[in-house]
Amino acid sequence: MFTSCEEEPTEANPQLDGSEEISAAVIQRFKDLHFNTDGIELVDGNYLVEGDMIITPEALEEMSDPIIVEGPKGEQYRTYNLVSTPRTIRVLGYQLNSTMSQGLDRAIANYNALNLGFTMQRTNSTSSWDIAVQSYGSGAGGVAGFPSGGDPYQYVNVYPGTASYGVSVVEHVMTHELGHCVGLRHTDWFNRSISCGSGGNEGGSSYGAVHIPGTPSQPNVDYNSIMLSCFSANESGNFSNYDRIALEYLY
Ligand SMILES: [Zn+2]
Repeated sequence: MFTSCEEEPTEANPQLDGSEEISAAVIQRFKDLHFNTDGIELVDGNYLVEGDMIITPEALEEMSDPIIVEGPKGEQYRTYNLVSTPRTIRVLGYQLNSTMSQGLDRAIANYNALNLGFTMQRTNSTSSWDIAVQSYGSGAGGVAGFPSGGDPYQYVNVYPGTASYGVSVVEHVMTHELGHCVGLRHTDWFNRSISCGSGGNEGGSSYGAVHIPGTPSQPNVDYNSIMLSCFSANESGNFSNYDRIALEYLY
């Protein structure tokens, strides 16, 4: 079992530096907004919370009026913000090896196989893109963020070690992180131990954990969801039926 979204950045990675101090005021602010602040880190000047969510200081500042809508447990969830549609989301694969590149192609195909108001399009242009997918640092898993201003979150990092588990696992993590970029939260955000074996409630946070109609109700949990917090070494890389229902409902 891999903690897909909880990989600790290493000191050897110049782009991920968790050594800087986060003020008590900032931590309190996150707590006030119902985030789980365990393991919070500073990454490139932004806050990394709950394993794989990046929140900029500006976004934190704007969270004065949190909207928290928590549905029954065990369903698919989205953030309050979504991507405006219709639109084409241009996805740049930046300096990816062949396993990572294939995984990204498959992840994009997962989205384009659905009937959605957006289309993802792979691009090699470093000057014209909406989401840049990179692979740096160490370990397996990935990191991304949530939409704002009608745009998807711009950066995905899938850690290089993920490739050693094969294309389908890379496809899984890429699809999962792109899911965050368009506003999906973890299906088990309320209890990470469902997929991770341990861990608690991530909190609704001001980003929201809004139940998506048509997905399972308590006590049922969609154990096949690509948006579960943790993943294993034998993932198919495909959406579950309820993931499809959730995305087609939203978009
Ligand atoms: Zn995640």
